[in-house]
Amino acid sequence: MKIKVFPRDLLEAKWSSDKAKFDDPGTPPPNCLRCGKPLNKDFYHNKLCRYIPVTICCACGDDEAVRTYSGKMLPFEQWHAVTHGEIDTGIDPQTAFLTPVCNFKHIFENAKSTSHSGTQHPENLVAYSRSDYNGYRWYTTWFDGPAGRPNSELVKEIDAFQNALFELPEMESLTAMDRLHFFAEPTSETMEYNLYSETEQFHIWLRLIYRQRDYNLRVHYYLK
Ligand SMILES: [Zn+2]
Repeated sequence: MKIKVFPRDLLEAKWSSDKAKFDDPGTPPPNCLRCGKPLNKDFYHNKLCRYIPVTICCACGDDEAVRTYSGKMLPFEQWHAVTHGEIDTGIDPQTAFLTPVCNFKHIFENAKSTSHSGTQHPENLVAYSRSDYNGYRWYTTWFDGPAGRPNSELVKEIDAFQNALFELPEMESLTAMDRLHFFAEPTSETMEYNLYSETEQFHIWLRLIYRQRDYNLRVHYYLK
């Protein structure tokens, strides 16, 4: 299994094919992935996005600078290329996406059971992990959810997701993990973010906590 960050990795893939158009003077320049307007045909009269290695138009570069200053960046899922279906979101069963949008909110409204720790979980929670980074490596502890012990097939899927997750370059350290917050859903806690994913059998909720000497990541696996 491979994990990609949505829509970052798809925007980067689109840009890597778009930028080849600058090599051919007879081809019109590609459109800015952020606003949809044509880029300047002189490559160097455009601007590099400050969050991902994608070139955007000057107007977008200026807008990004203003928004960065005020702390209100334009969410990547609102980029023109994403809202207009210009990025390839082809479904590949071996790829799971991390997204800032939860499309399984309903499970949190269903009946809840309380674990011995006093935390309430939806009844289809099979297992969850808590990981902390001690400055050198990650330590993970696993907990059963109210849905009971997963069978070997489900364990295989959980392991595949968890292994792919920790292979991401963002999981090399806590500072690297914090870069994911540009692509995550903010929460009421300033140093905590949500990401969501999906595999064949599971809805997955990830809570990222960018605080030293605390749990830094929780990953919850809900049976579909
Ligand atoms: Zn633009």
